[in-house]
Amino acid sequence: MTHEYGPGPIAPHGGVLVNRLLGEEEAAEAAARAADLPKVSLARRQRCDLELLAVGAFSPLTGFMTRDQFDASVDEMRLPTGEPWAVPITLSTTREAADDLREGDDVALSDPESDQVLAVLHLAETYDHDRERECREVYRTTDTEHPGVAVVMDQGEVCLGGEVDVLSLPPHADLAPYRWTPEATRTEFDRRGWKTVAAFQTRNPCHRAHEYLQKVAMELCDGLLLHPLVGETKEGDIPADVRMRTYEVMFESYYPQERVLLTVLPASMRYAGPREAILHAVMRKNYGVTHFIVGRDHAGVGDYYGTYDAQEIFDAFPPEAIGVEPLKFEHAFFCKRCDGMASNKTCPHGKEDRVFLSGTKVREMLLRGEAPPPEFTRPEVAQVLLEAARREAGK
Ligand SMILES: [Zn+2]
Repeated sequence: MTHEYGPGPIAPHGGVLVNRLLGEEEAAEAAARAADLPKVSLARRQRCDLELLAVGAFSPLTGFMTRDQFDASVDEMRLPTGEPWAVPITLSTTREAADDLREGDDVALSDPESDQVLAVLHLAETYDHDRERECREVYRTTDTEHPGVAVVMDQGEVCLGGEVDVLSLPPHADLAPYRWTPEATRTEFDRRGWKTVAAFQTRNPCHRAHEYLQKVAMELCDGLLLHPLVGETKEGDIPADVRMRTYEVMFESYYPQERVLLTVLPASMRYAGPREAILHAVMRKNYGVTHFIVGRDHAGVGDYYGTYDAQEIFDAFPPEAIGVEPLKFEHAFFCKRCDGMASNKTCPHGKEDRVFLSGTKVREMLLRGEAPPPEFTRPEVAQVLLEAARREAGK
């Protein structure tokens, strides 16, 4: 299948799939030049963002935001070119470091751990980073107890805006078979003949409630992309390798292989709730999906956001501007009287008939060596979580 925009069932955000990764020869030349350039070390979230820029997951962005882009995304949830964009993508540094840089300069961006130069930033503009406004508008709070706000408030006072040319993707020691670019997932969707694809975002293991949402979506669409986020998450979230193992055993046992694809999103979690739900949908569109599952309190943390805020925010845009159709779901559960998975939309019974466990309760059970009931967690998934809890306790 060919389309004017390249492979995949849907046009990328803004119409063109961006690729900022240099070819081998260009990258070698750029690396040689980079030795003489001023250098800025990337923070961990910025390193994730650089990777997403490189592979086009942030299309139509071609670099870190300039002031116009920052203002439009913070104040209007759009890019100056009109596309919906609800979370600013910034590169910030200290004022002292920024004072040494001139607009028009090339700047080497280095990996915070290995110090290796990953990219060259063509510095178009430096501008004051209004961190408080960003937090108030995007996160709806300036409370530094909020893990996403804490990261922003800790960033530098000056933003560096401009296009990037990426020499090499940030090195990763794990999950190599699952690190597919948007170009790769799009090509695979075409190969499988999928015209509609639903994506499921997660940073947690999948319990039966999640499986239910995924399978309802699979009844509607040709295929499912299970697309866990594996960039930076907050402390206390379950490590990516354990989560991946739970998805693998769940897929092996309970899903038709030819209708599902498991790959990862190398993004950092911002916990920005509704605003981040829009970003999550737009990134998945760039990976080629047509439908996006939005559950209750999507991308939320604590009680900063209303239960349905992340679903309602999609109504602020004309559907064709987002492009991806949000699939808005209620919380699902196993009901003993219905004798199956259900939600408030389908089950008339009360709390006493429904199997519900809070995240805290599940963690406590696992630490005691107890598997959650099979109505809540598939036994194969429970085994993986129990082994991880044992390893954690043995440390
Ligand atoms: Zn029921």
